[in-house]
Parts: sequence; C-alpha cells; structure tokens
Amino acid sequence: MNIESQRIEALRSRIATACRAAGREPASVRLLAVSKRQPAARVRAFYLAGQRAFGENVLQEARAKQPQLADLDIEWHFIGHIQSNKTAELAAHFQWVQSVDRERVLRRLADQRPADLPPLRILLQVNIDREPQKSGAMPEQLAALAELAARLPGIDCRGLMAIPRLTGEPDLARDSFRRVRERYLELCAAGHDFDTLSMGMSADLEWAIAEGSTMVRVGTDLMGPRNSAPGQ
Ligand SMILES: *Cc1c(COP(=O)(O)O)cnc(C)c1O
Repeated sequence: MNIESQRIEALRSRIATACRAAGREPASVRLLAVSKRQPAARVRAFYLAGQRAFGENVLQEARAKQPQLADLDIEWHFIGHIQSNKTAELAAHFQWVQSVDRERVLRRLADQRPADLPPLRILLQVNIDREPQKSGAMPEQLAALAELAARLPGIDCRGLMAIPRLTGEPDLARDSFRRVRERYLELCAAGHDFDTLSMGMSADLEWAIAEGSTMVRVGTDLMGPRNSAPGQ
C-alpha cells in the first residue's frame, strides 16, 4: 500500500472509532480532504488512492490547480471566505460551496450558476461562537438564509458548516459542536431537507462526530504538513 492509501485508511479508521464510540455508522461520516497549500501533484496522488472530495479555501489557488487536475472526476468544495465579486467563478468551478454566510452571496451564486450544471450544493456557514473576526452568519440569521436558499433555483442547500473557536479544550469544542447541531436540527424541524453537517478538522474530529457531524474536513492529518505558499 502506498503512503496516500495508508493515510486514507488511518483516517477512515479514526473516523470509524469515533463513530463506534458515538453509536453511529462509520459510513455516515464523509471525509473531505482539505488540499489548501498542497501541490496539485499531491491532490492527484490522493485521488488515485481513492479520495474524491477536496476542499480549498483560496479561490485563486484552487483555480491554479484545477486545470492540472481536469482529467480527474474530483468533487471540489470551497471552504474559505467568499468575496462577493468572486461568486461567478465559485458558481462555475465548484460542486459545493460550504461557506455561504450572507444574502448577497447566496443570490449571486444562484444567478451565476451555469444553466447546464446541476444546482450548486451549498452549506450555510454559521459563526457559532460569535467571533468578531470570523466569517459565518450569526445563528439567528440562519432561518432567513435557509428560507431564501430553498426558493432560489440554481441552489441546493444541504445543511450547515461551522469552524468553532479554537480553545484546545475538548469540553468547549464539544459545546460549540453541540450548539451547531441544535441549530441544524431546528432547521430540519422547520421543514428543510438537510443531510450535511460539516464540522470537525484534524484536531477535533472525534468531538464533532460525537455531536453529529456528517462531514469532517481534514487537511494536515490526512495530506501532511502544508506549504507556507499556495500550492501549485
Ligand atoms: C484548513 C481548514 C481545515 C483543515 O484543517 P486541518 O487542521 O489541517 O485539518 C478545515 N476546514 C477549514 C475551513 C479550513 O480552512
């Protein structure tokens, strides 16, 4: 087995262990490989080892890598801060946009999704700990955004994404994940047909899975240390 296959196996077994501890099916958690500041060649190697979904947080970097990987059937996820003037490129070149956090971005993505592509799958990013410097809608803004998303052709809203505050304290992280899940369940109870709760990264995926995550976004612990410069 090559190194990429070994790393995917190791991550899958970490996910499975966390699922068993939470009384959940391992297949209920998807693995998104976060490939930011990783070279295109490494993305290719992980793809060949079986990984299909990759996440990028800087549009320009992603757009530099995508042409080199155009022969692969990669599912691209955007997970970074969205500038309103960049929505056309996101709508055209990603299968998922996980970081939608305001009405203007939502409307533009809907308008700009090319008609020959299926509706853009999105998640609403929630700033669950109300951190001033962080992207994400405030929890009380989610209901209106979800209602708007449900009415927009070109958009297929699947759930929520969150990046809780980094505390190094498992109990605090778990509390943040629990509050994200509560919001998610409220929206489902209001009639939204969601299936995706994106939370948990290298350091805290066990806590996120314990609180119901269905998609963990893992960079370092899967693809290795990142470069300081954008990946090419
Ligand atoms: C970088 C990043 C990750 C992955 O972080 P790791 O700690 O390397 O696993 C997950 N989600 C988002 C939004 C990120 O920007």
